[in-house]
Amino acid sequence: MATKYQNFINGKWVDAKSGETFENRNPANWNELIGTFPKSGKEDVDEAVKAARKAYEKWRLVPAPERGDIMKKAGDIMVSRKRELAELMTREMGKVLAETMGDVQEGIDTAYYAFGEGRRLFGKTVPSELRDKFAMAMRVPIGVAGMITPWNFPMAIPTWKIFPALLCGNTVVFKPASDTPATATEFVKILVEAGVPEGAVNIVHGGGGAVGNAITEHPDIDLIGFTGSSDIGKKISASAAGTLKRVSLELGGKNAQIVMDDADLKLALDGVLWGAFGTTGQRCTATSRLLVHEKVYDKFMSDLIERTKQLKLGDGLKKDVEVGPLINEGQRKSVHSYVEIGQKEGAKMLTGGDSATGDGLSDGWFYQPTIFTDVTADMRIAKEEIFGPVLSIIKIKSLEEGIKTLNDSIYGLSSSIYTQDVNNAFKAMRDMEAGISYINGPTIGAECHMPFGGVKETGNGHREGGWAVYEFYSEWKSVYVDFSGKLQRAQIDNY
Ligand code: NAD
Repeated sequence: MATKYQNFINGKWVDAKSGETFENRNPANWNELIGTFPKSGKEDVDEAVKAARKAYEKWRLVPAPERGDIMKKAGDIMVSRKRELAELMTREMGKVLAETMGDVQEGIDTAYYAFGEGRRLFGKTVPSELRDKFAMAMRVPIGVAGMITPWNFPMAIPTWKIFPALLCGNTVVFKPASDTPATATEFVKILVEAGVPEGAVNIVHGGGGAVGNAITEHPDIDLIGFTGSSDIGKKISASAAGTLKRVSLELGGKNAQIVMDDADLKLALDGVLWGAFGTTGQRCTATSRLLVHEKVYDKFMSDLIERTKQLKLGDGLKKDVEVGPLINEGQRKSVHSYVEIGQKEGAKMLTGGDSATGDGLSDGWFYQPTIFTDVTADMRIAKEEIFGPVLSIIKIKSLEEGIKTLNDSIYGLSSSIYTQDVNNAFKAMRDMEAGISYINGPTIGAECHMPFGGVKETGNGHREGGWAVYEFYSEWKSVYVDFSGKLQRAQIDNY
């Protein structure tokens, strides 16, 4: 029997007002129904916002270290349930168990970082320009935060937003992707068990149009934390502009890895396999372009093709499986359409190129890891985010050409170079246009205490992760205390 899930609004589990539901199925075996979820709409969002607004008045007054203690408890619960949560996540969205365990661990790390931040949330004191006057700037909460998240990191990404938002004293209305509502629900249950009070966290399930849009337009929501595609990010930016909300957008990528002629090629090969085909290529930081120096090209390519063909596809819960399915039918069609585009554009397909079939693969959205060579920078497969196991390879003659090609993108999330030359490494660190750069590491693998985000159309300048995200979820308030006992006019009485 599939589980019937509900929304969580004002401390109560409730159905959508419409009474309608949607299904969530296992992408590795679509015969398995994970659960049914409320198909919510604007009225449900309104209720959740009302609850969050009311809860905010109490939550903002809870001392930050006490809020931090709740985050710590949430982290402890996640530790005790790590494997069970990871298994649910694999069933729900397909990536292999080692990766879903990592996804939960990212949430745990983020909880513990928030715990520590509860005793920091540093402000600043500065000297006043006037005598007998005190000046300080402190961090205050903002209000009700609307959180809209994608399906590829169903635990990590919600935790990146919700822990810092709550720690700073905001309350939350959370709309997870409709492909991963079960993991999101478990996260909310953990927050409640850890002690987040009634109304401070609410989850409303449903589609981007009906629920997401109601959140971004809502006059009583003060800020939006969004992770998803650049197309939707632009729509959200426009819709939130109507009420001048603060908006953090973490969007798409078209990440590249450079392999120089002086690179440790074995290391570079391990890196690109993990970067391109980990999470079946469905990461914002996935390696989608590989830029290989001509001097090592032939050797590197033959090893890469051989290793790619050996990758084991299947249900991510099974031992030894390295690549799970794509998330759904639409994504498989979209990936395949890019493969057809690549062929029409004249790129050479060396492996893959179709849905994967065979033992254990017939009832899931599996797709063969695919490699194109002879790709030129103007081809669509070199420019657009594919979000699947498709790697486009471009031959380069020099570091300068590699960096120029890497930068030739509307996106700028992650970047990587494999080189053993310190001069190359430092030039790349300086010149690669990206929010994240790896030297001798693949494009994927962020750590929770470092800023995370991108430049250009990958975002709007905010960062998740580490200390940086706390800037987004709090506001600076400047406070002056005049203890002179007389009127002192700044810039007038002192000069
Ligand atoms: P998506 O943009 O389709 O959806 C993301 C979320 O937005 C979902 O919850 C969806 O329901 C909601 N949504 C859709 N339309 C909406 C609307 N009009 N108003 C409000 N909300 C709406 O993305 P996806 O397919 O879930 O995820 C894949 C994308 O996310 C890729 O482009 C990937 O690069 C990106 N991503 C970025 C990061 C990052 O940190 N930069 C991390 C992970 C994923």
